[in-house]
Amino acid sequence: MSLGELVRTRAATVPETAGSPLVAVYRQPAPVFIGGVGSYLIDDQGERYLDFTSGIGVNALGHGHATIAHAIQRSLDTGLVHTSNLFRTKPATDLAGWLVEHSFADAVFFSNSGAEANEAALKFARRWATAAYGPERTEIVALRGGFHGRTMGALSLTDRVAYQAPFAPLLGATRIAELDADAIAEIVDPARTAAVIIEPIQGEGGVRPVPPKTLRALRDACDRADALLIFDEVQVGLGRTGRLWAHEWSGVTPDVMTLAKPLAGGLPMGATLVTAAVAKSIQPGDHGSTFGGGPLVAGVALAVCRHVAEPAFLADVRTKGARVAQRLEAIVRAGRARDARGSGLLWGLDVATPAADVVARALDAGLLLCSAGPDVVRLGPPLNVADEDLETGLDLLEESL
Ligand SMILES: *Cc1c(COP(=O)(O)O)cnc(C)c1O
Repeated sequence: MSLGELVRTRAATVPETAGSPLVAVYRQPAPVFIGGVGSYLIDDQGERYLDFTSGIGVNALGHGHATIAHAIQRSLDTGLVHTSNLFRTKPATDLAGWLVEHSFADAVFFSNSGAEANEAALKFARRWATAAYGPERTEIVALRGGFHGRTMGALSLTDRVAYQAPFAPLLGATRIAELDADAIAEIVDPARTAAVIIEPIQGEGGVRPVPPKTLRALRDACDRADALLIFDEVQVGLGRTGRLWAHEWSGVTPDVMTLAKPLAGGLPMGATLVTAAVAKSIQPGDHGSTFGGGPLVAGVALAVCRHVAEPAFLADVRTKGARVAQRLEAIVRAGRARDARGSGLLWGLDVATPAADVVARALDAGLLLCSAGPDVVRLGPPLNVADEDLETGLDLLEESL
């Protein structure tokens, strides 16, 4: 679609803002939420909705969880909510230490969102590559179907014409490559490529797990060219797949990993985790954030991380994920959907019809879902969803098909 066509179709479909003071970038349904408890949200009419969106993978512990409430309260009790990064704080230092101890990484940069975590990853990759190889090594490669955020750099690596076209020109020295198992070697150009960025499971692109052998081939291609491999685990990291990091399923370790959505359990936070080799190339002043890693959010994030990393908690996510797989596969076998893909508690059901219709019917039935592309209904309940709520949600989904 050309830019002109796109703008005209957009103009024809701009939703009624009906006096809303919000910029109309979101299509929001009618309910106005005033509260939450566990896996449910409650609207101003007193209706309960079972939340299988988890705020797009953010509310990993559901709504109103005591761990999060206590962490916020403890933080408020210290009187330490913000200091800026002019100074060190204990919560940020402790959280960075925890993340380093529980991952491949040697150092962490904190920000406030997934897009920001990716922007930092892109800057760090360029800094590392140009320091090591000179000014030609600036290219960042993303993969077909990937999503990395809406800021200009992250958008340049997001494979959606509708998101990109109205905002051209985007960042130079970026490229979207085919995720073709036979052509992995061609993804990395040793003369130009600084890094390849990939989601181990593409979330927005339709919940598409990348096969472990593809990730391994990509790791090899990056190693041969000495380019960095960046895993965007903003949506699938921190327990969503039933392992702490999604890449653990493949045994492939990246050089850089970005986190955000569930990190602070509902408060905004992003993190960019890097190896010592990458960290060494970064100088004071190269990057920064006023709010990033503030003591309130960092304290909450540490509580969330510790809770989610408990082996019994992760095992429970895997058990529930197996139950979801079983029920969705039965739906596919019955011919009521085309495909079911996912891992842990992130699933995509390819319904072969507009996903928005299913999402709308589910809302009427009291189940909150979102789509992942035009035909895929996405299921992402809180990681601690109760077994009976999980069954109820799957029943409501079936009724909504
Ligand atoms: C949501 C998402 C982002 C962007 O996160 P924001 O917090 O919305 O900026 C980036 N990458 C992936 C994989 C995501 O799912």
